[in-house]
Amino acid sequence: MEKQSLKPRSPYAGRCIVLTTKHAKSIAIASPFFEKLNAGVLEYVVDTDQLGTFSGEVERSGNALECARRKCELAFDLLGDTVEFALASEGSFGPHPFIPFSPCDHEILYFIDRKHDFYLHMSHVSEKTNYRKESINSLEELLKFADAVQFPSHALILRPSDRETKTPIFKGINCQLELKKVFTECMKQSANGNVWVETDMRAQFNPSRMAVIKELAEKLADRLSANCPACDTPSWGKVRVEPGLPCQCCKSETKMTKHDIFGCTRCSYEEKYEPFHGLKHSDPGNCEFCNP
Ligand SMILES: [Zn+2]
Ligand SMILES: [Zn+2]
Repeated sequence: MEKQSLKPRSPYAGRCIVLTTKHAKSIAIASPFFEKLNAGVLEYVVDTDQLGTFSGEVERSGNALECARRKCELAFDLLGDTVEFALASEGSFGPHPFIPFSPCDHEILYFIDRKHDFYLHMSHVSEKTNYRKESINSLEELLKFADAVQFPSHALILRPSDRETKTPIFKGINCQLELKKVFTECMKQSANGNVWVETDMRAQFNPSRMAVIKELAEKLADRLSANCPACDTPSWGKVRVEPGLPCQCCKSETKMTKHDIFGCTRCSYEEKYEPFHGLKHSDPGNCEFCNP
């Protein structure tokens, strides 16, 4: 019988990737990592709130990327040398960079591989978020807010007065009865007759956020499934684009992508590929000479 050629095996097959999280993010991450890499994702439950909270009681020190890295390092520091692979996520919310008046969810996934000696982080900006915060002073306004942000499948956070109130804070509110009760309590304790309401952005209270993390986990798992042709380290993939696609008319270089550059996270080896748009020339409309 003829021997069948084996498919290249993922270097993570049968291995355990430690995900530092307090908010059950393996719900989003485990299945892409299993399907694409045959890897297991094991949650290491740490109180990551010490590194910052969305609701502002603990300000995040450093930016989101540093925070995600710190979460990975927690797994190495606290669990010891046997941990080879660590993963963590960090999200930020605010105005969309390109779509006016629209909020966005900016997610980062940070991966450290001590066995193959590299780290890799990827990010994703999505407009699929219910992120919103408001000051209200009636139950009617509260219910209107709740309706607009997919409550009760997506939870809310309430506090008396304004966003500066540190205590009491009512988090993870995801039922109508509790919402009304908490609103009454906040009104009672309010210094200015207002109640501050915002969407709870912690992943297990926010299915929209969980879905965005999953999209990013799929991108990361894809990237980890390819090895560098030169040094065989996993995580071979697109690292940047090279502009300069020639103008159809005058042949001068435009700002449009000429090549996609694939690279390695460990060595300096790179390869050029045809750009994703598949075009050989740019429309003269994009040319600084033909269309100044
Ligand atoms: Zn031109
Ligand atoms: Zn390499």
